Amino acid sequence: MTFGVMDIRQSTEAMEDQWLNSLAARSAQSAGRVKPETHCHIRTAFQRDRDRILHSKAFRRLKHKTQMFIAPTGDHYRTRLTHTLEVSQVSRTIARALRLNEDLTESIALAHDLGHPPFGHTGEYILNELSPFGYHHQQQGLRVVTVLENLNLTREVLDGMEGLTEEKPQFLTLEAQIVDIADRMTYLHHDVEDARRAGIMRDEDLPQNVLGILGQTRQERLDRMVMDLVRTSLTTMESDQPLIALSPPIWDAMMTLRQWMFDHIYLAPQRMEQTDNVRRMLSALYKFYFKHPEALSENLPQDDPLERRVLDYISGMTDRFAIEAYQNFLLPQAYRAFSVNMFSGELSP
Ligand code: MG
Repeated sequence: MTFGVMDIRQSTEAMEDQWLNSLAARSAQSAGRVKPETHCHIRTAFQRDRDRILHSKAFRRLKHKTQMFIAPTGDHYRTRLTHTLEVSQVSRTIARALRLNEDLTESIALAHDLGHPPFGHTGEYILNELSPFGYHHQQQGLRVVTVLENLNLTREVLDGMEGLTEEKPQFLTLEAQIVDIADRMTYLHHDVEDARRAGIMRDEDLPQNVLGILGQTRQERLDRMVMDLVRTSLTTMESDQPLIALSPPIWDAMMTLRQWMFDHIYLAPQRMEQTDNVRRMLSALYKFYFKHPEALSENLPQDDPLERRVLDYISGMTDRFAIEAYQNFLLPQAYRAFSVNMFSGELSP
């Protein structure tokens, strides 16, 4: 049997209908987009969302944003981009195993950290202090896809992104729940690996119950969490309260690991020294752009108050763009015969 191009999306939707669990989101039944669009002949609504996210500028900038280490020089450390790709891979494995909508899961996973500022959670904490609007990377992620890059995503992807914020929508798809939990499993997995690579810790330093319950090696621990999540969720999905969940012993061990990482790695004194440096740099940049709005990107919504545009601009920066802007504008300069217009490029929104 041959298909014309016109049939491809419809046959994919029909396959979704046959293959997916009855609880899965179906792209043919999407609640749609704020601005209605005609259908694509090839891709489903969620596949289009995934492609839009992947082609966005904010996605490309994740390459030079901190995951755990600021502007790492070693090639094997995670950045926000490789973290995002790992979350996407783990999420898709789980979605496929549970016969949930893999394309929707992938879209939410690829978008889940688009609102991260430079310098990771340290940057987030400081922007939250500086801005009258406050700052949370999940909220900013929604702003990136709805305003700054206006991707016109489906309601299901937006709900999934909102599900990662403090104000969770009432109904959250199982696909969004997968990303929420896969994000935690993934960052714990790879941050342990990066901390070990940096010589800050050894695997055997982890608490005994983490090693005993989750496993001795990083591979074992991720495998056990994913297997447990799939097994537990298969059971809950047959109950009258379907949920994506870990079993209590694995969840508790994961929370112990998380707390240990905060106490020994994320909030370790050596890292806290960096916080002061990041605060000095972001505060100075914030004041600078406030005094020099002409230096902000013209692509920002011009009707927004200056405080909003400064926040959008700085939070969009990569680590290296922020360091470069600081060096260019806020450190004494040697005389240059030719001035460099750093705003001619497209490094930031
Ligand atoms: Mg994340």
